[in-house]
Amino acid sequence: MKSLKDILTQSSFSRDELVRLLGLEGEERTQLFHRASEVKNETVGNKVYFRGLIEFSNICSKDCFYCGIRKSNKNVLRYEASDEEILAACDFAFKNQFGSVVLQSGELSSPAFVDRVDRLLKSIKELSNNELGVTLSCGEQTKETYLRWRESGAHRYLLRIESSNKELYQKIHPDDSLHAFDKRLEALSLLKACDYQVGTGVMIGLPFQTTENLADDLLFFKKIDIDMVGMGPYIEHEDTPLYGHRQLLTSKQERFDLALRMVAILRLLMPDINIAAATALQAIDPAGREKALKVGANVIMPNLTPCDYRKEYQLYEDKPCLDEDAELCRNCLEARIEVAGSKVAYGEWGDSKHYFNRKIVKQS
Ligand code: SAH
Ligand code: SF4
Repeated sequence: MKSLKDILTQSSFSRDELVRLLGLEGEERTQLFHRASEVKNETVGNKVYFRGLIEFSNICSKDCFYCGIRKSNKNVLRYEASDEEILAACDFAFKNQFGSVVLQSGELSSPAFVDRVDRLLKSIKELSNNELGVTLSCGEQTKETYLRWRESGAHRYLLRIESSNKELYQKIHPDDSLHAFDKRLEALSLLKACDYQVGTGVMIGLPFQTTENLADDLLFFKKIDIDMVGMGPYIEHEDTPLYGHRQLLTSKQERFDLALRMVAILRLLMPDINIAAATALQAIDPAGREKALKVGANVIMPNLTPCDYRKEYQLYEDKPCLDEDAELCRNCLEARIEVAGSKVAYGEWGDSKHYFNRKIVKQS
């Protein structure tokens, strides 16, 4: 059997090797984390990019079994932030040199929704003299919509595959065309065809999920040549069908630890991509995101959603920063990031290096 030391110097891994890395404990795990940190510093540097997260609406047409804002959850007050509120949050991001914002919402595809996002994109570009980068996370849309939003200024898009295993995907979603695995895959390739920097990700520690499934998720990211990944622990939510399977879950701490290993291994597997320190990490450990930065992540998404709405955007239990205002969040974050040994890159878009590298490979 190969030594761990040898495996850690590789840049491609077999499924068995990934499974082994995902199970590391103690001193061996420390070696993995150390190597991931080295690779990160050598490839993307120790800078951290801020994306101001604006959860602008919790209205959703879908019913994913794990999500607290699913359509059928009647305990949620539905909201839509006004244009003024959204633009004020963007203005805050711009003035505080965040570099980029992420507009996230439930999934709708009505013409009114598509028009609204389009209008917002144009206004954000205008208020920031084209300087603020905009990432969208608004679910599956038609190619026409993706193109339209791209032309109006969005240049990155996040759409998690949730699980790359079709069977597991089907277990955590309703069985209908709105929630089809193949459509989700197709949406990811449409995004690429529309020239976005494309981000995806999975939930870690889902009921029914095996370590082999997670190894396959990592291989999937590599296979589809993704530019960015955001992945975090699955956290149960009482008002969802998946809560009924909570007896299958490992402890939150174990899911957290597994998520950190996923981040570290992904940094070895895809050294030049952007990896976000998921907010769900912070729901389990207050220093969770900083821990992810130490082992390979290089993007963090401070929450800029107007405070009144935050409690209605509970995708999962114990979502952090529910009543902190944006300014407070920024100051405490910066201090914690510096303690973790990284530097905040103010005023930079922080594009995925991989996006440019893959284009060069394609042209040559
Ligand atoms: N509606 C959009 C964006 C909002 S949901 C979409 O679905 O793409 C953003 C992400 O929240 C989802 O992709 C999912 O991975 C994550 N999420 C939802 N419920 C969760 C839970 N219970 N635990 C952890 N992450 C969850
Ligand atoms: Fe809607 Fe996204 Fe939640 Fe699914 S995960 S119910 S699409 S907000």
